[in-house]
Amino acid sequence: MAEKPQVAETVAALRQHVKAWRGADESVALVPTMGALHEGHMGLVELARSKARRVVVSIFVNPTQFAPNEDFSRYPRTFEADLAKLAEVEADLVYAPSPAEMYPQGFSTGIVMTGPAQGLESDFRPHFFSGVAIVVSKLFLQCLPDYALFGEKDYQQLKVVTRMARDLDLQLEIVPGPTAREGDGLALSSRNRYLNPQERATAPVIHRSLLAAAEAIRAGTAPDAAMARARAAISEAGLKVDYVEARHAETLAPLNGAGGPIRLLAAAWLGTTRLIDNIGV
Ligand code: AMP
Repeated sequence: MAEKPQVAETVAALRQHVKAWRGADESVALVPTMGALHEGHMGLVELARSKARRVVVSIFVNPTQFAPNEDFSRYPRTFEADLAKLAEVEADLVYAPSPAEMYPQGFSTGIVMTGPAQGLESDFRPHFFSGVAIVVSKLFLQCLPDYALFGEKDYQQLKVVTRMARDLDLQLEIVPGPTAREGDGLALSSRNRYLNPQERATAPVIHRSLLAAAEAIRAGTAPDAAMARARAAISEAGLKVDYVEARHAETLAPLNGAGGPIRLLAAAWLGTTRLIDNIGV
């Protein structure tokens, strides 16, 4: 079995590793995660490996991106299994800070974002992107990587982080990774383990409906009509829809008849589990 990666639990320890690599002129990629790792995360680590000599995977369930009524306390934590998986893909270092290390007593700083952060997730999780922006910018400043990898699975997050890195002149490249899926199309997610067998069988309806909508739009159907059909199909399967929307793929602005690349994005509840997915047209 491959050797488990080293673990750094403090900013100081992380910086020591990175400093040694920099001294040897080695490039560094960071893959931020909340753990409960699956093949989607592994794909990002492998992509990171192809970009940089050294790969850091952070595992931190970030309290500031959960609202009080959300699943922070029940979010799956599988640290030992995560380490074993990261050994297989030869990650160099796992950075696993405690909440107190990330948010020292008296923490008082925030980041406010507009643009791609507006609407979609923000309409239903208003705290979410400020939590993501602060934790991701802290991870960037702690690690100072050359590359940071983010999955298209969380497409709005990818766009928000890319925008933030550009706006703040952060000296790193945001690298997107494709969405890893189950055979039936369900996007891999740490939250899929909340689904009971019946819900698991229903869940691919989101991807299926988005695929059908993309197909219809390519064939000339108006996006609004195609998305209404997708929304109806997802609801009829018993999910509670938060949003099913067509947006400009880069700015995430509503289409309003304007041209440009289109991204279809959806979020819906299956029982007590919230699932999100998206595809390009
Ligand atoms: P998370 O641990 O869910 O916060 O995700 C950490 C990173 O993995 C984020 O950049 C996600 O977009 C990415 N990710 C999560 N699920 C997938 C997936 N199915 N395919 C590709 N990337 C993913």
